[in-house]
Amino acid sequence: MNPLVTQEFISRFGEAPAHIVRSPGRVNLIGEHTDYNDGFVLPMAIDRAIWMAIRLRDDRQIKFHSVDFTDPVEFSLNDIQHQKGWGEYVRGVAWALEKAGYQLEGWEGVMLSNIPIGAGLSSSAALEMAVAKAFSIAGNWVLESQKMALIGQQAENEWVGANTGIMDQMIIAAGQVDHALLIDCRNLDTQQIPLPAGTALIIMDTTTRHSHTDSGYNERREQCETAAEHFGVSHLRDVTLQEFNLGADELAGLPRRRARHVISENKRVLEAGIAMSAGNATEMGELMNTSHVSMRDEFEITNEELNIMVALAQSLSGCFGARMTGGGFGGCAIALVKDEAAVAFVENIRSRYEKSTGLKPNIYICEASNGVEVL
Ligand code: ADP
Ligand code: MG
Repeated sequence: MNPLVTQEFISRFGEAPAHIVRSPGRVNLIGEHTDYNDGFVLPMAIDRAIWMAIRLRDDRQIKFHSVDFTDPVEFSLNDIQHQKGWGEYVRGVAWALEKAGYQLEGWEGVMLSNIPIGAGLSSSAALEMAVAKAFSIAGNWVLESQKMALIGQQAENEWVGANTGIMDQMIIAAGQVDHALLIDCRNLDTQQIPLPAGTALIIMDTTTRHSHTDSGYNERREQCETAAEHFGVSHLRDVTLQEFNLGADELAGLPRRRARHVISENKRVLEAGIAMSAGNATEMGELMNTSHVSMRDEFEITNEELNIMVALAQSLSGCFGARMTGGGFGGCAIALVKDEAAVAFVENIRSRYEKSTGLKPNIYICEASNGVEVL
């Protein structure tokens, strides 16, 4: 990708780029719908990324091309206005940085990417973090990873208008090779957790997608709020499983089951951090399996294809565990498998899933990579 993006830059600008930025996608290993409950998540940055080549300008213009889109992004930092298209992510980051008081300077360049768009691997946050890094290079100031993540989230929430948590930006800003990142969504404390040696992480895209009219996400949020109110706390993060078991009787059925997922999931994320730190892939796999059951039966955010994919993965040799990942109602599942079993696993899962569903899945063997970086 590095030579490709350099070549792309040279063919547009007639000279070599001054800087190359790499900004990866991400996948969440465990901890689903825990973020807005002030809980814990455990994502990792993956070896699929946006690559961006730039040079600085001596005015306050931004000119940016993506090989995946025909329309370039062009605007003046003196007059940042809403427009349509992918440039909203670029303008949103510029807007959030300026609002936070950073001195912005112009730059121009090109990007290419092998993060599939809209597959749940967070190409949008990868783009935001790449752009934030470009501005920090152009302005010659340092943007610490937590600050960078918050800027990206603000751009996505307030400028683009997508209601997302902090996880994606945080892992892309702070990821480290061979590690996942345990994030406390309440105070943004982080801990680097090594991946168990001798394992491979496989992302399995069912190719089913949740519909945008789906009210499932907001409904779940409301049910979690109802449950938190019942326990007299601001967020379900503050309820232990023991307290839940003692006090859930008078809570209505749905909020009770939603809460049971969130509370048990938070516990599983912390246990997963311990298991992985000890190199215990078996324990990690079991936690992933239990997590999936909880999302299927208590939180009810899986669809048939996700359930089929996960069951198939769990049935294959060399698989420690599998679960759906992301918001749910479609999208991707992941499996933790023995390194030496990975290639056969991929072939098997591909043919079996297609046979069961008639759909061709996209399967990616992933390695934990660094977060956004200047090369
Ligand atoms: P994802 O799950 O991949 O984050 P989103 O819908 O949140 O999906 O974000 C996808 C959007 O991010 C695209 O519609 C586009 O605006 C922007 N984007 C992602 N990848 C690229 C790219 N390679 N070039 C330009 N814009 C991109
Ligand atoms: Mg996104």
